Amino acid sequence: MARVKQNKGMIFDIIRYAIHDGPGIRTTVFLKGCPLSCWWCQNPESQKLEPEKVGAIDRRKYSNLFYVEDGNIIGREVTVAQVMAEVDKDRIFYKYSGGGVTFSGGEPLMQPDFLLELLKVSKKKGLHTALDTSGYASWAIVRRILKDVDLFLYDLKLMDERVHQKYTGEGNELILDNLRKLARNKAHIIVRIPVITGITDKRENIREIGEFVRSVKGIEQMHLLPYNYLCKDKYQRMKREYAMQHIKPTSDQSLRKIKEHLETYGLRVKIEGGM
Ligand code: SF4
Repeated sequence: MARVKQNKGMIFDIIRYAIHDGPGIRTTVFLKGCPLSCWWCQNPESQKLEPEKVGAIDRRKYSNLFYVEDGNIIGREVTVAQVMAEVDKDRIFYKYSGGGVTFSGGEPLMQPDFLLELLKVSKKKGLHTALDTSGYASWAIVRRILKDVDLFLYDLKLMDERVHQKYTGEGNELILDNLRKLARNKAHIIVRIPVITGITDKRENIREIGEFVRSVKGIEQMHLLPYNYLCKDKYQRMKREYAMQHIKPTSDQSLRKIKEHLETYGLRVKIEGGM
């Protein structure tokens, strides 16, 4: 695994004017590296910490900042100052929309020193900070960044340990445990569920998620993330098998049913990008 110096880190994209990664208009910084390997991963190029060479890209489909460097290498080592220079460009939009900066991935907690410094500098600048995380990291790491994160966008995928292991490559104990601890520490949390037909949308899984989140207490909201298939060409470019190609998108009706089901647990639920 590549070693990343403390004030430098590996990113694979920065997206400006993001509106689904927390409140208001935001800049989302995508850190490279993830300990999971979800079958439905929309960013397969995020999983390895190291830069990766891939096939040719249609640049019109992607943001134009750091995504591709020489020779179609995805991933670039950058300093905290370089990232913040990009983030700073849209301060005026953050101010008037109640937005800020979101750190996503991959799993940003895989580069804890870099992430911590990004968060600290962001807070010093008075920016609202959000962390989009799978929650798969040691509590020691999560605790370090806790006070510099204004909002956790926390993924919950599957409640059955064995099924979680099958579809993500790891169990879910650490993820559930960290969520409990974050809530106990009064963190602001939105739980997000990637809705994958026939996998995460099963009634039993939704019931268990509802019961778990209700038991944790203090979760402000849940968001359902309908799956989209725009990532298919990424897998092709990486010469990787796309395990989801036979999975149908979840219908609006099914999404509404899941929302209503979760609301029976007293939770506030929103369907991202829709109802
Ligand atoms: S946690 Fe997110 S980034 Fe990591 S493999 Fe799963 S979907 Fe991809």
